Amino acid sequence: MTRTINTVTVPTAANLLAALRADEVADATALYIDGQWTASDSDARIEVYSPATEQVIAQVADGSAADVDRAVAAARAALPAWSALSGAERGAYLKQVGDLIAARLDDFAEIASRDVGAPPEASKLVQLGLPMFNFGYYADLAASYDFSGEQVGNSLVVKEPIGVVACITPWNFPAHQVALKVAAAFAAGCTVVVKPSEVAPLLVNAIAALFDEVGLPAGVFNLVSGVGTTVGEALVAHPDVDMVSFTGSTRTGKRIAAVAAESVKRVALELGGKSANVVLDDADMEAALKVGMENSIGLNCGQACTALTRILVPTERLAEAEAVARRIVETYSIGAWDEEGTVIGPLVSKIQHDKVLGYIQAGIDEGAKIITGGLDSGRTSGYYVKPTVFSEVNNEMTIAREEIFGPVVCILPYSDEAEAVRIANDTVYGLAAAVWSGDKDRALRVARQLRAGQVQVNGGAFNPAAPFGGYKQSGLGREAGAAGFEEFLETKAIQL
Ligand code: NAD
Repeated sequence: MTRTINTVTVPTAANLLAALRADEVADATALYIDGQWTASDSDARIEVYSPATEQVIAQVADGSAADVDRAVAAARAALPAWSALSGAERGAYLKQVGDLIAARLDDFAEIASRDVGAPPEASKLVQLGLPMFNFGYYADLAASYDFSGEQVGNSLVVKEPIGVVACITPWNFPAHQVALKVAAAFAAGCTVVVKPSEVAPLLVNAIAALFDEVGLPAGVFNLVSGVGTTVGEALVAHPDVDMVSFTGSTRTGKRIAAVAAESVKRVALELGGKSANVVLDDADMEAALKVGMENSIGLNCGQACTALTRILVPTERLAEAEAVARRIVETYSIGAWDEEGTVIGPLVSKIQHDKVLGYIQAGIDEGAKIITGGLDSGRTSGYYVKPTVFSEVNNEMTIAREEIFGPVVCILPYSDEAEAVRIANDTVYGLAAAVWSGDKDRALRVARQLRAGQVQVNGGAFNPAAPFGGYKQSGLGREAGAAGFEEFLETKAIQL
């Protein structure tokens, strides 16, 4: 039975799933402020759509600036007692939440699949696998970090929590982005107000319910749903918010940096990308494209900021690259999360679907050659886009310059290694890259020349404890690992 408190429905995973499975509109309108599920000041609602059926599956509150004021006040009031706990005490809450997700993984994965679109196995691996890792990782880091300070001459240099952090997140890996920010901020001793994406918010509601379930002190974690221009900007401008940790588009990141500048608050930005997969002339093409396509199309239907969407191949191996790319991509069957054999799901929303089709049309109009895919998904409903590979792309084309955020990749020919490096770096972005070569030292030498925050050599596996972030317009600062934790600390020098 759905549990309600003061007429507000608590959006636990169980409550959300009960409604979703019954084809009812799930009630996720409650906000979490000061340790209570509470109604928004605003009666306005935002509808959440199923990517697979286009039906409304849930509602969240279209929150207000007054909601933000309440949440920030609660986070500020909770800060002294929370930051005075030992790291191990704070970490224990993180560990409990991670363990609860693991214990209810099937339910959480089903919510992810219904809200974001990918099949449950993929949801388990990435949408929930990364949060489970990060809750555990930062629990351990909090317990082991030495907050006592370091003697530098006559100074004691101490690290302190920066304070109240606004966490503003996108829809592509909704639980991961919140977990990464919140776990690192809690380990550092900060309190948070989270503003998840209004496009796919349900996993974040379910995680908020876990913080409530484990008895986190009131005010340490707060959740205000709503749109970016209202709730997001109110948080960014708020005089009592000390830091904004943002993941999303470069366009929004620029706006956030400008608004935050008025109150000179710290801003950490994880933004977009247009990453290159550099296949050198001596590389194993099969391996390079298999891993490359999994990363750029297979992972969340291309809705990943690190997607390696520009595949750079030597001109003399272009025909080979096209044949291998077509064969691999045509094994990716699209379908709903609960359809047998689905490899990749639909895109998250109609807006995203139409935007991606617009880019495919631009590629056609600008003279790129379609190797596989195209405008027709072959499906009559759902936000599906057929995985699409363009070849004979040059780096001036719109599809090579702009982030598409869908299952669309470009193959660009180059003449020699120097030109490959030049093209790879010829972008305003700098989030990720990959290099493939039969000679690892050569690949490493090229990797060092690429201006990107994450570079994969010969398929080196993603490391969730390694610093993550972008050069150039892909961001400011780093998330994940110890570097991500340090973003939430201030430095104080006490002269003795
Ligand atoms: P978005 O920028 O549209 O929205 C992200 C969040 O910002 C949402 O919660 C939104 O409501 C909020 N927002 C929007 N306008 C705002 C404003 N003026 N002030 C404050 N908040 C505002 O991005 P999206 O479409 O949700 O996500 C896709 C983008 O995220 C892509 O560009 C992708 O590359 C990027 N991304 C980056 C990373 C990374 O780690 N670098 C990871 C995932 C996604």
